[in-house]
Amino acid sequence: MKKISIIGSTGSIGTQTLDVIRANYMDFKVVALAAGKNITLLEKQIREFNPRFVSVWREEDAKALRLSISDLPVKVLSGMYGLIAVSTAEDADILVTAIVGMMGIQPTIAAIKQGKTIALANKETLVTAGHIIMPLAKENHAQVLPVDSEHSAIFQSLQGERQNKIDKILLTASGGIFRGKKREELQNVHPKDALKNPNWVMGRKVTIDSSTLVNKGLEVMEAHWLFGVDADRIQVVVQPQSIVHSMVQFEDGAVIAQLGTPDMKLPIQYALTYPERKYMSGKKLDFWSLKEITFEKPDTDTFYGLNLAYDALKKGGNMPTVFNAANECAVPLFLDEKIAYLEIPELIQDCMENISYRDNPSIAEILDTEKEVREYVQGKYH
Ligand code: NDP
Repeated sequence: MKKISIIGSTGSIGTQTLDVIRANYMDFKVVALAAGKNITLLEKQIREFNPRFVSVWREEDAKALRLSISDLPVKVLSGMYGLIAVSTAEDADILVTAIVGMMGIQPTIAAIKQGKTIALANKETLVTAGHIIMPLAKENHAQVLPVDSEHSAIFQSLQGERQNKIDKILLTASGGIFRGKKREELQNVHPKDALKNPNWVMGRKVTIDSSTLVNKGLEVMEAHWLFGVDADRIQVVVQPQSIVHSMVQFEDGAVIAQLGTPDMKLPIQYALTYPERKYMSGKKLDFWSLKEITFEKPDTDTFYGLNLAYDALKKGGNMPTVFNAANECAVPLFLDEKIAYLEIPELIQDCMENISYRDNPSIAEILDTEKEVREYVQGKYH
């Protein structure tokens, strides 16, 4: 039986991870959970999965939760201390990083230092601190297993191929809800329109990021760190039906892909059961009824956030952090209707041009850069 901790258990990935665990309850045991502020859902999860302890972000929420579960022997912690305690829970074999944002860096590092296997959904961690995380994982013999569907597809395509040279990673994208639209048509986009995704059900931020192709940009950076492939050899291919989850082209020209229905539970389960596969209920691909699988080049004139991501990856240093932090500021501003949809990439570009460059940043410098970006953006919009 594998023992699991989850940070971000109340979110889209967190709840789907618990769905996978529920369906395989003989194989997994939940030992610790961390959430942000949704204590109502966390309480339900505690009552169902019986973790030893949990954490929430604010101490006032921790107090309220302690009262509501006073009939249970479950310890409730709070803040970064609690988040790190959940991530390093002594008896956990696997940490699922389902938290959103750069908040995931420190808990992930703490778990890696203990040699835990990381089922990594929180891409911001690798985007901003990949140069620290990946060597640290190697040093501590900690496996980093991708949860993101594209990276899981690449990882699956590489099984048995580790010795063979990758010529190209073909990272697929649905193209988002606005695929095919031009800038003029996107001027008056309302948040509720951008919050629809044609194929995947996801959290709010990642849904917006998917529509702007910023998410794909973050995934390019994530793929660079996970698979050690340069930006020039990672090609984004729009695959509107989200059936081909990504592909690897080897130097002999062979392309190996992983296909499946668009359901995050498959990559989540694969990360938890790796190297084994287990039965999974739900819809499977039916190639007789599947009408077509098509491919397109992404429209990077309209969705130039993707190009900015390539620029950030090539510049390196703290630029990926600037890219990510600027986007983390821009998305809530858009959702609060303080900036227009097309201003999201504009703001990212503005930050990339105006925040000071730092080479080979330490974790403290990464967090400083994030603060600098937030202050810069606040100065503009408050
Ligand atoms: P959600 O917004 O749905 O969930 C975020 C989770 O993080 C919630 O449980 C939230 O808690 C928790 N959280 C937020 N702030 C804190 C905090 N300060 N302390 C502790 N927990 C906190 O996001 P997603 O599940 O969509 O995404 C999570 C990560 O996975 C992201 O990095 C995303 O890019 C990545 N990802 C997501 C995919 C998807 O399909 N959704 C696909 C691939 C990757 P609460 O709600 O209680 O406040």
